[in-house]
Amino acid sequence: MLIQENINLKTFNTFNVSAHARYFADIKTPEELLEALSFSQQGSLPFMIIGQGSNLLFKEDYLGLIIELNIKGIELINDDKEHYYIKAQCGENWHDFVQHCLQAGYYGLENLSLIPGTVGAAPVQNIGAYGVELSEFFHELEALEIASGKVIRYCKDDCQLSYRHSIFKGELKDKFVITNVTFKLLKKPKPNLSYPALRDALPNIETDNIDPQLISDTVCEIRRSKLPDPAELGNAGSFFWNPIVSEDDFFALQEKHPDIIAFSYMQQYKLAAAWLIDQAGWKGFREGDVGVHKEHALVLVNYGEATGAELYDLSRRIQLSVKKMFDIDLRPEVRII
Ligand SMILES: Cc1cc2nc3c(=O)[nH]c(=O)nc-3n(C[C@H](O)[C@H](O)[C@H](O)COP(=O)(O)OP(=O)(O)OC[C@H]3O[C@@H](n4cnc5c(N)ncnc54)[C@H](O)[C@@H]3O)c2cc1C
Repeated sequence: MLIQENINLKTFNTFNVSAHARYFADIKTPEELLEALSFSQQGSLPFMIIGQGSNLLFKEDYLGLIIELNIKGIELINDDKEHYYIKAQCGENWHDFVQHCLQAGYYGLENLSLIPGTVGAAPVQNIGAYGVELSEFFHELEALEIASGKVIRYCKDDCQLSYRHSIFKGELKDKFVITNVTFKLLKKPKPNLSYPALRDALPNIETDNIDPQLISDTVCEIRRSKLPDPAELGNAGSFFWNPIVSEDDFFALQEKHPDIIAFSYMQQYKLAAAWLIDQAGWKGFREGDVGVHKEHALVLVNYGEATGAELYDLSRRIQLSVKKMFDIDLRPEVRII
């Protein structure tokens, strides 16, 4: 394994911001992962695991070791009457994995097509899109405990998967490296068209008869038409979580702002953060090379040479103005380093 020094992370984060890592390791095997962790422990260096850097903002240089996971492999490990159990290694590209499953006849992940990133990062924030969350098809994962060097198996309940969250983003943050994930996928397709934009894009077809590959292709089409491609315009998807508020707080807000957009969510309300940001006047804002996407108020963008500090500063300004206008705290979904 090669540990490189003073590496520019511009091509390792989808915001495309320049920030230097003191050390950088590209990891292709579990053995290399152990070597890299021992390198950081011996030098008392901080370290950080990354996949494809699609949920990160480097606001400054990183003075430790960045460990990029590229461990690959997909295998069918078991099946029962209705399911296939598929194990994928952490460095697999998420979208390629979804396509692999569809081609092999393992169904369920089609609505999650084209989400950037790796398989290993997917449970960290329980990725979700178009009416489906990873948790619905998650079976278990294996993770290396950094303190002990032991590999521990986590079942679904252990992972505490919830809206864009898991135990690995909470109390176990940076304590484990997820090395592989096993999914419980369907033998018989069960199309989910609960998301209105997806249903509208597939009119005149009975839900039960829709080919999962068609759902995947349609999701890709919608995503390409709506979201900026990080290869062309640096971004990390939604920058903030949609805030969740109690019913009482929602009704109080609705009285003041009758047009507020929200969705009921487990006896609470999930507010559309994009609407709040738009109302606060940020949609389409641009200053130098930082901005808020003109069609997506939730997507902060780097028009070219923006720095991580400038993007962070913009995110703080947005938070402050939303707080002032609605008394709502927007929390970043993106990890800021
Ligand atoms: C254009 C765009 C659209 C997006 N759309 C969506 C969407 O629809 N839904 C959604 O949920 N997300 C979305 N995202 C966010 C992003 O794709 C996901 O969060 C993705 O899972 C991040 O994967 P990654 O490999 O890039 O992780 P990184 O950004 O590299 O890392 C994210 C976090 O996970 C940790 N991590 C990464 N790998 C591991 C591992 N193996 N073990 C332990 N910790 C690990 C890192 O330390 C970091 O804290 C979008 C991003 C972009 C750029």
